[in-house]
Amino acid sequence: MSTLLEVSGVSVTFDGFRAINNLSVQFAEAELRAIIGPNGAGKTTFMDIVTGKTKPDEGRVIWGEKNLSLLGMSESEIALQGIGRKFQKPTVFEDQTVRQNLAMALKNPRSPLAVLLHKKTKSNAERIEAIAEQIGLTDSLTRIAGELSHGQKQWLEIGMLLAQDPRLLLVDEPAAGMTVEEREKTTDILREAAKTRAVVVVEHDMEFVRRLDCKVTVLHEGSVLAEGSLDHVTSNQRVIDVYLGR
Ligand code: ADP
Repeated sequence: MSTLLEVSGVSVTFDGFRAINNLSVQFAEAELRAIIGPNGAGKTTFMDIVTGKTKPDEGRVIWGEKNLSLLGMSESEIALQGIGRKFQKPTVFEDQTVRQNLAMALKNPRSPLAVLLHKKTKSNAERIEAIAEQIGLTDSLTRIAGELSHGQKQWLEIGMLLAQDPRLLLVDEPAAGMTVEEREKTTDILREAAKTRAVVVVEHDMEFVRRLDCKVTVLHEGSVLAEGSLDHVTSNQRVIDVYLGR
């Protein structure tokens, strides 16, 4: 599989504290990956670096042929490169219907080329139907978003990001606050989404990560501590020590 994103030797220092320490990690096209690690491991800062919110002090962030860390791009310019980010709390237009929310996301393309290609083959109405089906909200298209459950709002926001067709979708703790059923459905949605783009999920809930059934990267003190299947990393003594606070 070809590499989509390569973070290489990246460090970030806040007031003399190295939050990210010589971090190197790669992601392939259409890969599903979970990132875990104790509080303060650098998970949020990692996402901030990839999305351009935080500039690395050293190292490279290679996206295709581009070194994003050198180009001085704003967050919105990086988003336009096809990098979508879902924050922990759902942000949808509460007073609009599900259909209107998805339509707005489609009108506000993050990846213009991709949307142009889709437009040639499908109308916006068809795309909205397809995304609604993907996020399990077909029966809720005419509902006001503010009336949806917490889980449904999270799915709607994932759908809005999918409408923008990113090549990489970063998702921050999607399972937080969800019921067991909602969590299960969320893993299905993310697994399906990762068939056509890379999806990187930062998550604390190990049952959720287990259900994602994907490669796991463990961060600790701003570097990769272990990588592999969930069983592989959770049997690693260094990972066990870190999680038990030794
Ligand atoms: P995680 O998301 O894994 O909990 P973070 O990336 O939020 O970890 O934080 C990594 C470390 O960097 C923590 O020790 C945190 O206190 C520190 N940190 C993060 N952002 C800042 C900042 N803006 N200023 C100072 N320290 C920060």
